[in-house]
Amino acid sequence: MKRLAEVCEKIAATSKKLEKVRIVAEYFTDPASTTEDAACASVFLSGRPFPIWEETTLQVGGSILWRIVAELSGNGGDLDATYRRHGDLGAVAGEVLPTPAKSPNLSVSQVQEFFRKIASARGPAAKGAMVRELLLHSTPLEAKYIIKIMTGDLRIGLKESLVEEAIAKAYGTPVASVQRANMLLGDIGQTLRLAAVCALDTAKMRLFHPLGFMLASPAESAEEALSYFQNATVEDKYDGIRAQAHCSGGEVRIYSRTRDEITESFPELTAPLGAFSQDVILDGEILAWSGAPGDGADAPSDAGRALPFSALQQRLGRKKVSEALMQRVPVAYLAFDVLYAGGELLIHLPLRERASVLDQLFSNRKPAGPHLGGLRDGLGFAGEPTAPRGAVVRASISGAASPEDLDRLFDEAQGRGNEGLMIKDPESSYTPGRRGKSWLKMKRHLATLDVVVTGVEYGHGRRIKVLSDYTFAVRDGERLVNIGKAYSGLTDVEISKMTKWFLAHTVLDQGLKLVVEPKIVIEVAFNNMMRSERHESGYALRFPRIVRLRPDKLPEEADTIERVREIYAQQAGNTHSPAI
Ligand code: AMP
Repeated sequence: MKRLAEVCEKIAATSKKLEKVRIVAEYFTDPASTTEDAACASVFLSGRPFPIWEETTLQVGGSILWRIVAELSGNGGDLDATYRRHGDLGAVAGEVLPTPAKSPNLSVSQVQEFFRKIASARGPAAKGAMVRELLLHSTPLEAKYIIKIMTGDLRIGLKESLVEEAIAKAYGTPVASVQRANMLLGDIGQTLRLAAVCALDTAKMRLFHPLGFMLASPAESAEEALSYFQNATVEDKYDGIRAQAHCSGGEVRIYSRTRDEITESFPELTAPLGAFSQDVILDGEILAWSGAPGDGADAPSDAGRALPFSALQQRLGRKKVSEALMQRVPVAYLAFDVLYAGGELLIHLPLRERASVLDQLFSNRKPAGPHLGGLRDGLGFAGEPTAPRGAVVRASISGAASPEDLDRLFDEAQGRGNEGLMIKDPESSYTPGRRGKSWLKMKRHLATLDVVVTGVEYGHGRRIKVLSDYTFAVRDGERLVNIGKAYSGLTDVEISKMTKWFLAHTVLDQGLKLVVEPKIVIEVAFNNMMRSERHESGYALRFPRIVRLRPDKLPEEADTIERVREIYAQQAGNTHSPAI
């Protein structure tokens, strides 16, 4: 672990990507460490304690780590000043923890073993005891990176894509082969093992680990959208949650955009998703939906209609879902893409070919019950007559070749209760985890930003006991810069749930104000934007209000300072802009 921590320091010290890749590649092939250590290290260097496909999580919150570091540092637990300097608990540990009397000698693989024990320990006390033991066996520098891995953010400017490049360089193989194997396996460590024995081409798709989601860029107008490609495939932009469905031999698992499994929250979707005649991975959106067979309507899919996101909110984050709730808030899975079918990954095919595979899949679905005759572009599923049933629907697509077409489709989509349009290049391949100009989103005509909550305060009056005022930030490279503060527009239930979360994830308690782990993404709306010295970003929002929590987004996916500048420039250039 000592070598890996030193390597991380070197990586942090350079801003050049090529140099970072060279340092990592050299470390992988260092004769002093085994391939097994290199494999574990590749996972750690991607900022994770475990490979993605395992779906194992440590479940150790920032406040437990904080307490342990404070206790082991022996300085009376006052880490505030050090934290303010670093803004990162790992770096704090590196500075305040004492050097153990006996020099520790933990290997990278042993650290991962520790992580496994922590993951399987039950309850904060047992987990905390394991963490304490691990830190007692580490040097301050090792502890610094162990904590960074545990909190999921190394902050050394290294992304998994650079680790892939390093594997390619270390074992003399094309980056594309490494990327492909990593995508199929969902395990950068196993990818490294295969690369080390020149066997990357033996990697086979492992279903049931989420692939990265393709992301969309905002388009502010129909003209802008059509400036990237001329003939567009257009779908409604549904206001639900993004969901990747893996279906194989009747087994179904659904993953959210944060790559968490959410199957349990939508039990009524399992049977209809299991009705495809072959193994598939679908990309789509889960919506609250009226007209799904589950609500008794048994209507064709295109007679169904999205319900507002606030209806779906009642279904989110639940482990157990009562039949009454399923009846009250029926859901549908709107499939708009297929990533795997016929035993092959399809992401390299152009969208128009994937779309026809998706059409085929829907028309070949197994008969799903007595009520299914004649549905055109979606199939409701009838299971037990009394059990609530979800719908699985092929999202409708249209073509657009002019801004007028797009404007008309936009109005129609909003008329159907959807958020706007997704405008896609029919020739584009599916690029997991990347935001490009092949998918464009045109949303409601009011600018909103997805921001990260960095601080919270107790409210006033009846909100004196809950943390209802949020300070939030946008991304500026690796940093977060505050841009505003808003009183929560969330419901009382949400505020009290979030209060518990913030208290458990406080990193600095300043009395009325708490600095919290920057993990929660919210969407804020505002009337316009001003230059301002009040916040670090240099901008302030006028009349900011919280539209909703975005549990489906990671902090890395929050909006950036560049987007803020774009909105500001557009607003300054055109006061009648529909975007503001
Ligand atoms: P946003 O969350 O505003 O960044 O917009 C991107 C999100 O729109 C995606 O992650 C999906 O959850 C959602 N979405 C809704 N409808 C579609 C669609 N037809 N195609 C792709 N994404 C969609």
